[in-house]
Amino acid sequence: MTVAARTQATKKIAPAVTLPRKRGRGKLGQGGRERAVLEASAQIDSEALLAWYDGHARVLPWRARRGERPDPYKVWLSEIMLQQTTVKTVAPYYARFLKRWPTVEALAQAERDDVLRAWAGLGYYARARNLHACARAVAERHGGIFPDTLDALRALPGIGDYTAAAVAAIAYDMPAVPVDGNVERVMARLFAVEDELPAAKGEIKRLAHALLPARRSGDFAQALMDLGATHCSPRRPACALCPWTACCAARGRGDQETFPRKAPKREGKPRRGAAFVALRADGRILVQQRPDKGLLASMTEVPGSEWSHDFDDRRALRASPHLSGAKWRRLPGAVSHVFTHFPLKLTVYLAHLPKAARAPHGARWVKIADLPGEALPKVMRKVIAHALGEEQGGHHAKWRRR
Ligand code: SF4
Repeated sequence: MTVAARTQATKKIAPAVTLPRKRGRGKLGQGGRERAVLEASAQIDSEALLAWYDGHARVLPWRARRGERPDPYKVWLSEIMLQQTTVKTVAPYYARFLKRWPTVEALAQAERDDVLRAWAGLGYYARARNLHACARAVAERHGGIFPDTLDALRALPGIGDYTAAAVAAIAYDMPAVPVDGNVERVMARLFAVEDELPAAKGEIKRLAHALLPARRSGDFAQALMDLGATHCSPRRPACALCPWTACCAARGRGDQETFPRKAPKREGKPRRGAAFVALRADGRILVQQRPDKGLLASMTEVPGSEWSHDFDDRRALRASPHLSGAKWRRLPGAVSHVFTHFPLKLTVYLAHLPKAARAPHGARWVKIADLPGEALPKVMRKVIAHALGEEQGGHHAKWRRR
């Protein structure tokens, strides 16, 4: 059946029922709720989505072309990289990784610091450490072949429900649905799910599973991802182009943009701190490695204070590195950065040191030109850019753009 014919066929289907809230008005018992889910899902034509996918699938560097067998390594690598990051950001990283480490065995043999350096700028560094640990586990425990069961996939470092389902469905065509933010949005709208996220996650997963077609699980998963990333956008979804336009409950009510319902976000308490940029006369900056555990573990940083709610600026210099003769100058402004669980503001201090200045224990001097190769998290790139921008009027802008 052609896409147009499918869409036409879909149009004859009555809009899906709205799933009311679990509590309060419209309360259903568990049995009633399951019946409502089944009733609602029965009205959605999964084949219509597959037909749309056949004509409109995005071309992505990690995606197998029609007739090609998906490579589990590529599927896994791209899925880990894509978490919390856009396709545009990931594409060059993916290409670099694949060129340098074309197989999971090659990645397993890499030095962890090299992997962290290659990852720098993608954020969420725990993922890079897990990526490396997972490659080693696949090489050691599974002979270099990703397992093909959800349980075995979930037992690997850094692989949770979402990635396990994505690898299982896309690489092995197993009946699994990876549900990320995009897919949650599509499902919440399609069924007008009134419960708020994150409490509604379980229900949304059940709804997505209820739609799994008898064949082509991998294509169905990718089609859902594509629909969420293209037509079913957070704002102004292009419902007229959507293969589910006639059976989408929220679209039927005209309030699709209000889904998914979300519980109000509780922002973490802001933290503050100080960062110290020591600049040596031969164009080198003092850096050190963060501890192996905790936030931004093992990444490179400039020395700094603790980041705390009650940081006292007047005592900032107590946290400066032990560099004899350093005269620290507090720079105007500050660097702001938002982590997932708290916003951070850093005061930046700058000092000039002679060429002969020695690095304190645990620190080292790095050429400014070599900074792109360092595993510097984004917040540290901002700090150094702030200091160099202040100092050089943008002279060192080149490495900052990476
Ligand atoms: S009809 Fe609109 S709101 Fe409903 S799934 Fe399609 S794009 Fe999303």
